[in-house]
Amino acid sequence: MQKAYIREEECVGCTACLSACPVDAIIGSLSFMHSVIVDECIGCQLCIAPCPVDCIELIESSSSTSKEQMAANAKIRIHARKERLQHEVKTLEQINKAVHHKEKQSHVAAALQRAKAKYESNDYQQIIHPITTSEPKSKD
Ligand code: SF4
Ligand code: SF4
Repeated sequence: MQKAYIREEECVGCTACLSACPVDAIIGSLSFMHSVIVDECIGCQLCIAPCPVDCIELIESSSSTSKEQMAANAKIRIHARKERLQHEVKTLEQINKAVHHKEKQSHVAAALQRAKAKYESNDYQQIIHPITTSEPKSKD
């Protein structure tokens, strides 16, 4: 099965891949290099396009975990991520209500929009496709 691999010496630590990964299989923080947790990666490729320096590629990786187990693990991680993002949205909504200063409010509102977009972008069937079919996902 193919999994994402980050050429760490080229990574600029922008975190774009981190927020794109539906199963939280990438670790790293702003300005530091990022790495893929190989056992958690489902090869969905969603991290590749956002990388501004094209330092993520898919490589063949052997695994003793069955496809069924990987799909089950991925489902759990997607659910956990959705709960985390939902919590982020709720927290930002509360902060937005509590902030009275107009300029600060617009920053919080923008962050809230981003968090909502991330939360709503998780399509389980699309994400799980590479595991269940072993074929690369169509770009159409
Ligand atoms: S290929 Fe998919 S699961 Fe793997 S690290 Fe990239 S976004 Fe995450
Ligand atoms: S998107 Fe690319 S440059 Fe940015 S943190 Fe991820 S691997 Fe590094």
